[in-house]
Amino acid sequence: MREPVIEIQNLSFRYNLRFVLENINLKVEKGEFLGLVGPNGSGKSTLLKCILGLLKPNSGTIKLFGTDIRHFQNWNRIGFVSQKANSFNTGFPATVFEVVASGLTAKIGLFKFLKKNHHEKVMEALRSVRMDEFAKRNISELSGGQQQRVFIARALVSDPELLILDEPTVGVDAKTVQSFYELLEKLNKELNITLILVTHDIGTITDKVTHVACLNKTLHFHGKTNDFEQIQDEDVAKFYGHSLHVLTHNH
Ligand code: ADP
Repeated sequence: MREPVIEIQNLSFRYNLRFVLENINLKVEKGEFLGLVGPNGSGKSTLLKCILGLLKPNSGTIKLFGTDIRHFQNWNRIGFVSQKANSFNTGFPATVFEVVASGLTAKIGLFKFLKKNHHEKVMEALRSVRMDEFAKRNISELSGGQQQRVFIARALVSDPELLILDEPTVGVDAKTVQSFYELLEKLNKELNITLILVTHDIGTITDKVTHVACLNKTLHFHGKTNDFEQIQDEDVAKFYGHSLHVLTHNH
């Protein structure tokens, strides 16, 4: 049997006294592209923080690549792109190359030790998001969509097996969003990177994701995208108290 990339059992989490995640069970296998969807405040970011080891669940267990998160050390295997990654618009003094290289130096130590093969790794990561021609440009000169690609390259530079993206398309125009999803599909299919994408846009990416998880404190649905598409709108309304249309346009 294949080793799951993530295995969560009976996870609950509360801030102070209020539970925001209750009895979550979720298994993500290698090669999956999971769309994690839920309205604002449904616990998506909290769940990601638990998976990234930034928050400690009140109960339940998380295994990453078969290892209990409390003993997991090989964080290089996981890349993370946060929602706020594409907000370098205030003259931040770094080139695209430097931003991507910082993904390596965070792992290998001082910038001055960047070796020739590291240079090639940075360029390879930039090529995979089709931003290699922008290597020498200042990050702050780029559009939000281009910056987002650079931050994906930064996450890719250490060859993660799992890439987690938190609402990467907020504030990006529809055309850019579409090409961004195509890029994610390519990373998933060609580089065999397991992906978790937190999104409001589940309606527009059901042709890209292999699995869907609907979260609102508990997991109301988790399964293959085909099965998700069989669910009628009324069923989704039952999960969320409003329709899929509202759910997917709830920015
Ligand atoms: P989502 O990412 O789906 O919008 P979050 O995980 O950010 O949801 O939040 C889930 C719930 O937990 C919300 O009601 C939010 O207000 C609350 N919450 C988030 N962060 C904190 C915090 N640091 N302290 C207290 N409550 C929080």
